[in-house]
Amino acid sequence: MLLFDTVFNGNDAVYKLTEDAVNSAIAQHGEDKAVGFPDTAYGLPCYNAVTGTKIKTLKDIKDAMGVVKSLMTRERRLNDAFMSGVATALCAEFIEALKYIDGATPYAEPCYGHLADAIIRELGVPLVTGDIPGVAVILGAAPTAQEGADLVKSYQEQGILVTLVGGIIDQVAEVGMKTGANVRVIPLGKDVTSVVHVVSVALRAALIFGNIQPGDAANLMKYTFERVPAFVNAFKPLDDVIVACGAGAIALGFPVVTNDMDYANGVKVPKSLIRLEDVSKFNAVSLEARDIKIKITHIDIPVSYASAFEGEIIRRGDMQVEFDGSRVDCFELVQTKEVAEIEDHKIELIGPDIDEFEVGSKHNIGFVVEVGGKKMQTDFESVIERKFHTYINGGEGIMHTGQRDMIRIRISKDAFNAGFRAKHLGEILYAKVKNDYEAVVDRCQVKIYTNPEDCKELRHGLVFNVFEKRDERLLSLTDESVDVYYSCILCQAFSPSHVCVVTPERLGLCGAVSWLDAKATNELEPEGACQIITKEGVIDEKLGAYESVNTAVNKYSMGALEKVTLYSIMEDPMTSCGCFECICGIEPMSNGVAIANREYAGATPLGMTFSEMASMTGGGVQTPGFMGHGKHFISSKKFMAAEGGLERIVWMPKELKDFVAERLNATAKEMYGIDNFTDMIGDETIAEDPETLYTFLQEKNHPALSMDPLM
Ligand code: SF4
Ligand code: ZN
Repeated sequence: MLLFDTVFNGNDAVYKLTEDAVNSAIAQHGEDKAVGFPDTAYGLPCYNAVTGTKIKTLKDIKDAMGVVKSLMTRERRLNDAFMSGVATALCAEFIEALKYIDGATPYAEPCYGHLADAIIRELGVPLVTGDIPGVAVILGAAPTAQEGADLVKSYQEQGILVTLVGGIIDQVAEVGMKTGANVRVIPLGKDVTSVVHVVSVALRAALIFGNIQPGDAANLMKYTFERVPAFVNAFKPLDDVIVACGAGAIALGFPVVTNDMDYANGVKVPKSLIRLEDVSKFNAVSLEARDIKIKITHIDIPVSYASAFEGEIIRRGDMQVEFDGSRVDCFELVQTKEVAEIEDHKIELIGPDIDEFEVGSKHNIGFVVEVGGKKMQTDFESVIERKFHTYINGGEGIMHTGQRDMIRIRISKDAFNAGFRAKHLGEILYAKVKNDYEAVVDRCQVKIYTNPEDCKELRHGLVFNVFEKRDERLLSLTDESVDVYYSCILCQAFSPSHVCVVTPERLGLCGAVSWLDAKATNELEPEGACQIITKEGVIDEKLGAYESVNTAVNKYSMGALEKVTLYSIMEDPMTSCGCFECICGIEPMSNGVAIANREYAGATPLGMTFSEMASMTGGGVQTPGFMGHGKHFISSKKFMAAEGGLERIVWMPKELKDFVAERLNATAKEMYGIDNFTDMIGDETIAEDPETLYTFLQEKNHPALSMDPLM
């Protein structure tokens, strides 16, 4: 078959290219020159994943070329074509790695090139919830710029993460489409070798979430095939190199759809290599080939709606109007009512509409979403309300930040010109609440207030009253005050043996699932991801060890886990999937723990970055001494309670410290009588090494220094 010749030819061509590039790099820099990508703990991730070897220098690459050669067999069996494709991907990774020598930044706006580990971890939750139902890799230039952009937009509107390689990048720019990780359209690079950066994401997902050991190529490919919902769209004209890369994609289980009908004699591979002239059909055919199902919520608004628009930013100059809770009275509120009091889908605007406001002006807004249903509980009000941020943000040209009465909403000029008005905010809330909470919300109506007087009166009356009651309820919710905890296994889609145990004082490590969220999820889907764990059979209260918890994790991890404790980082700690917001690890010199958040790319006193700390845990395995957790857990009375509590915290990045300061200081004061505890905690501006940190902690008389030894 000609296809094989093509793959082999392409592979040979890339191999030769790589060999030349490596040799000339060695001639220029010498064999000992360090190589690697920024912000990853996996070295050259593809090579590491496939072979189990971490490449550190140019010499290592040179040696690795021999290993790659061995993959390039010529037996003309299908499997060899695929392995040859993998070899091409590895060569591409070497070529890309050379671009990063000496800390160079080879990719400029809008291209990303290599993607950091943190981006992959961030994708965890949206991928498991189906918010991101798939990953598209688009290669080359579409027949016309408009057709290319339409295809990209069609995926974006489905929430699919789109990566772009080659000519398509200029095409989407030409039609004025915004790109970036925040809108889930990521231009990788214009050279075909930059496609390896998305292959690298897929392979790292297997290492991060799947507990696949580097070098276990067979399980690696099984993992990407079964769990990474990616596919490739490659535009004509294909050449040998693209086809060889395509074979690599197929080896990982990603189908390739192309409009090149002639190349390599028009050979097809069922479900893997699909030829299709009509680009407008690429979307449907690709989703079918990869078996991706899209959740559709029909929302009656004049702009596009998709989770991909959640991260969109609307600048001052682009906005039609703004509602700003930090300056004027604004709020959002969910209220439970009797079903009979609600007229389903009634959306009322009380006050002036957006077209009565001056361009660029600031206004009041308040929405009350009234819900009713036999199974509705007031506990779910805050759970639903917290989703408003995501809901409203999904509209293209609509930006929402904050919550409760500290919200800010911007509506872009483009959205306004498309006909977007205040009532459409109500349409979004109605549609999403009914869709996501259909099991508890039978009827829903929305009232939108835009008069300053109404907003002021409601905010200072009804709204504050509700918030106050809710806060009291939250404060009264402790691990001791409830009878049940919840398991969450949402992340098993990527981490097959991972189970989170969610308690009132310990939210899921992703930060997105609180005890109330888990309770609501259980009510919505009794057979779903969150199951009740009745608190029974105390083994050790201090550790938070319970027979019922052990039985549950054993059951939901399919036997992979025997026991976990709720409050210890040393003894049977809870496992991590990989999408944790933070990770803490023991800092032996100061007898405490350092915490790093995912956004922090710098060094920590552990001598490791967040990525490196994170790579020590994950994949549903227990790793005493390291633990993934949510940001809000840091101020919990149960944080490391078994090892002495949050007094153990000796270091955090400044940004994280500022974020948790108010709550953390309040807990430290209440529990230990310490004032301004965060002033005693180091950060990167104070110390990045254990010695300097230790001196600082001594000066501050940090409590960890005199606590029982951790190890
Ligand atoms: Fe995943 Fe745990 Fe969050 Fe559930 S609570 S989504 S299992 S990280
Ligand atoms: Zn997870």
